[in-house]
Amino acid sequence: MSKKKKRKPLPLLQSACGFVDTHCHLDMDRYTDDVDDVISRAKSAGVGTIITIGIDLASSKEAVGLCSQHQNVYATVGIHPHYAPTCNASTMAQLRELSKHPKVVAFGEIGINRYKDYAPIADQIKAFTIQLQCAKELNLPIIIHDREAHAEIITILKAQGPFPAGGIIHCFSGDKTVARKFLDLGFHLSIPGVVTFKKALDLQEATASVPLNRLLLETDGPFLAPEPYRGKRNEPAYLLYTAEKVAMLHNISLEKLAEITSQNVQNLLQIKL
Ligand SMILES: [Zn+2]
Repeated sequence: MSKKKKRKPLPLLQSACGFVDTHCHLDMDRYTDDVDDVISRAKSAGVGTIITIGIDLASSKEAVGLCSQHQNVYATVGIHPHYAPTCNASTMAQLRELSKHPKVVAFGEIGINRYKDYAPIADQIKAFTIQLQCAKELNLPIIIHDREAHAEIITILKAQGPFPAGGIIHCFSGDKTVARKFLDLGFHLSIPGVVTFKKALDLQEATASVPLNRLLLETDGPFLAPEPYRGKRNEPAYLLYTAEKVAMLHNISLEKLAEITSQNVQNLLQIKL
């Protein structure tokens, strides 16, 4: 007998309309050896489109490289709060230049991370504010990284907004009340694999409360794999586990959820799927 754990197979999507993984880091080391396989496994599972996210200048360049090589990959550019000290006039000028690529669909991920203070908070706030204004000038939607900083981010968004091109609260981690605040500011909420965890009751309740036309799905791969792969490397194909849970919370079929969330991506990121 093999000791290998038998995991629940991927849910089957029975329609031509696939899902979009709105947040993945395809440029990261953990995909170096098999990024082509990762993309084709996603496609076979029904995740036809992947947005790969920049976290600093180098990874933004790689994201643009990846979207140029793969027809179903789109990119974003920006400086993650961990790398806030690298946000200066020179990096910003280069990010602006990169953002002109036709497959760059948003600015980010940008925001505040209070969970791991890798960068001084003053630098994080400064980088966040500069990039919010830049995104606004470029008329690009914003991808927000909010880790244990809900109130602070909401205050900054209110002060710096409005943001006519909209944006995404990536890896949404708040409860129903926080969800409402972001929705009131006009943002879409992107639900990660965490929603499949047994104890994520607040997130499940919040997810159920988000109107379908403001809902998006993501893996945040290689991080945060959903059940039954919790703790392993995440990849876009696993989005199906998250989708199954979200469809259940909204009491709709997987196919209907694919249709709605793909339409949301098209509306917000201005891409034709
Ligand atoms: Zn990310």
